[in-house]
Amino acid sequence: MVTASPPPPPSPASATSPAPAPAPATSPDLDQAPPLLQVEGVVRHFATARRLLGRGAAKVRAVDGVDLAVAAGETLGVVGESGCGKSTLGRLMLRLIEPTAGRVLLEGEDLATLDAASLRARRRLLQMIFQDPYSSLNPTMTVGEILAEPLRLHGIARSAAAVGERVAGLLRIVGLDPVHASRYPHEFSGGQRQRVGIARALAVEPRLIVCDEAVSALDVSVQAQVINLMMDLQRRFGLAYVFIAHDLAVVRHIASRVAVMYLGRIVEIGDKEAIFERPRHPYTRALLDAVPQPVPRDARGGAAAGVRRLVLEGDIPNPSAPPAGCRFHTRCPYVQPRCRTEEPMLAPAPGAGEHRAACHFADQIAQQIAASASAVRAGGGQADAALALRLQRLQQAFVRRTPPTEEQASP
Ligand code: SF4
Repeated sequence: MVTASPPPPPSPASATSPAPAPAPATSPDLDQAPPLLQVEGVVRHFATARRLLGRGAAKVRAVDGVDLAVAAGETLGVVGESGCGKSTLGRLMLRLIEPTAGRVLLEGEDLATLDAASLRARRRLLQMIFQDPYSSLNPTMTVGEILAEPLRLHGIARSAAAVGERVAGLLRIVGLDPVHASRYPHEFSGGQRQRVGIARALAVEPRLIVCDEAVSALDVSVQAQVINLMMDLQRRFGLAYVFIAHDLAVVRHIASRVAVMYLGRIVEIGDKEAIFERPRHPYTRALLDAVPQPVPRDARGGAAAGVRRLVLEGDIPNPSAPPAGCRFHTRCPYVQPRCRTEEPMLAPAPGAGEHRAACHFADQIAQQIAASASAVRAGGGQADAALALRLQRLQQAFVRRTPPTEEQASP
């Protein structure tokens, strides 16, 4: 049994009341202090099994040249289809895996240049929360033991009493009863286990937490509770999050900036409002169009209203042999000859600040869609119909509808 008093000094591992001032959740200003975390030209290739006929192993280009910065206290959402490289990028940020090329800088310091002791001390500031808390918690240890382990490992608490206080404080912070420190992971619900995972990440007083599909396995109501907890912890401790997810609704709720990945590269990045309200890359548009939308009764010919569940479907080209030029050109309805040979760089639109997209024709496409939308509103024409058809085909490439419910299927 753990004891809970007197209260230890405020820190993510021990505070039981809100910290005085939250850190600002803003975009990193690269002209001033170095960002909390920065990745420069990061590449990670994985060798596949040897090919037939002895032709050597292929290289899967999971992450293929990514530059990113994360400011203290902000939440950067990273979205994209399965296999786009977002989870690999998260692990590279924490150096859980080594990059094939490129650098990872923590407050301007290249982690690759540190000796083992310094790296361990700095790495403590970077933690991860996994999708499946059950598989990431040792089933043979009690929750108290799980939380005590990093405290002792990093010398944050040494005596049994100090460790007990810290463990109790951590459990309180994440909304669990300290009495439950003696329980094993299987005795908790999924949401409670994820709270334990959060507590374990907080134990070492991190500055940044990479959340890899951290709420994807939870029920919607539990998702909301865990996300609200994470946002509260961010306000209290000035944490930065890299929130990797395929659920755009969740990302829209929690993120301050969003990066969209496709085939190992970032194709669009910007403030949340810009990405969701004014997407510039056709791939981002397709992702947003695939988000489930309530279907009005009128739009379905008078059928009973309901929520149509849409699921992103992968048709990404082989990552060991990405297409030349723009990697999205094999699926893009706006493809032009230039797209097949010339790779677009991330570039801002005029006056768009840090909102950048990697598309040769982002401005023209935005204008075309705006013009088409107004023309359709005014009655439409053949050109608009053709564009609408192309967009529809693009959506169909991404979207698989789950079988309609009996109610939805009825006329
Ligand atoms: Fe589509 Fe070309 Fe833009 Fe790539 S560069 S997204 S293929 S229009």
